[in-house]
Amino acid sequence: MRRLQGKFATSMVFSGIGIAALLAAGFVFAAQPPSSAGKPPAAAMPPVPALTPYVEAHTHYNEKDPQGSVRAALAGLKRQNAAMIFMLAPPDTYTHPGHYDAEVILPEAKKYPGKLAVLGGGGTLNAMIMQSVATGDAGPAVRKKFSARAEQLLREGVIGFGEMAAEHFDGGTPYQYAPPDHPLYLLLADIAAQHGVPIVLHMEAVPQDMALPAGLKSPPNPPRLHANIAAFERLLDHNPRAKIIWAHAGSDNTGFRTPALCARLLAAHPNLYMEIKTDPLAKGMNYPMENGKIKPEWLALFTKFPDRFIIGTDQHYPEPNAPEQRWQTAVDLFNQLPAGLRKKIGTENVAHIYGKSVAAYLLHAAKN
Ligand SMILES: [Zn+2]
Ligand SMILES: [Zn+2]
Repeated sequence: MRRLQGKFATSMVFSGIGIAALLAAGFVFAAQPPSSAGKPPAAAMPPVPALTPYVEAHTHYNEKDPQGSVRAALAGLKRQNAAMIFMLAPPDTYTHPGHYDAEVILPEAKKYPGKLAVLGGGGTLNAMIMQSVATGDAGPAVRKKFSARAEQLLREGVIGFGEMAAEHFDGGTPYQYAPPDHPLYLLLADIAAQHGVPIVLHMEAVPQDMALPAGLKSPPNPPRLHANIAAFERLLDHNPRAKIIWAHAGSDNTGFRTPALCARLLAAHPNLYMEIKTDPLAKGMNYPMENGKIKPEWLALFTKFPDRFIIGTDQHYPEPNAPEQRWQTAVDLFNQLPAGLRKKIGTENVAHIYGKSVAAYLLHAAKN
């Protein structure tokens, strides 16, 4: 308990920093026209649930209030017609006060098997990778500690590793960079393959070394970004049995996460999957929706690779006090998909990717 109390105290500080950073991040995109311009605020409109059940495979929680987070997620599940909700710790560093991991939410989430599930590693495995990038030490002792922590998380009941980061701009957590083919990422791919669990990776697309995109501040972000697509392909090729989920398709802050790049990588790497995220308040570039409709190039991508996408909106529970929530725009997109594709993206692909830990529940949800 003492450890937890200490954690809560540091989390309070962290939370303050996080809110300030989120406000700053929102400011970055403030130059774009608000999506609700000319319309009544979405908060005033009744929520529109999914036409058929879907798994919300990427959400975050308030580490200071696991019970409240679980309560909010369960309410969301019902309101949104979600079959299950997966909860992740954000990718973080050891030097960032208040970093946390799956242990914060697992005891509460485990009370609702078949409704909630937890991924882990963002606050520890990811932090170890960032530390290894900083020190240059990926030697046997570091690898042993890393493996032990990954195995511990699996024993505790996580269904996958995430949220991990290879290129992550400063926001709720500090700027983070690691080559996606870093030795510890290759090791994690082997562990994930061995246990049949996926890795969820946050990585802004950077095909070539480039300057930080306009609108992002340096510091805290670096003035230049490292190329990462070739290294990402080496990670995908390293262990073809490791399922890698590239998070946030539809939420692009460099301008390079195009449907064309997604298509090329999906065609070349059968172990690659993607989560669809649409953030109505920070659309970024290559946003999949226009005037409430899916853009044709995105629909063509989902149709061409029907087995490779799932929904992962990055919704926070409890929901932030905002005029529009991330889950709602993703569900608006989901509801426009043809029924067969909707079923795959909604539940079947998740059952395939996550396997036995969730498949039985999802089969049940699909029947009802
Ligand atoms: Zn992310
Ligand atoms: Zn996330």
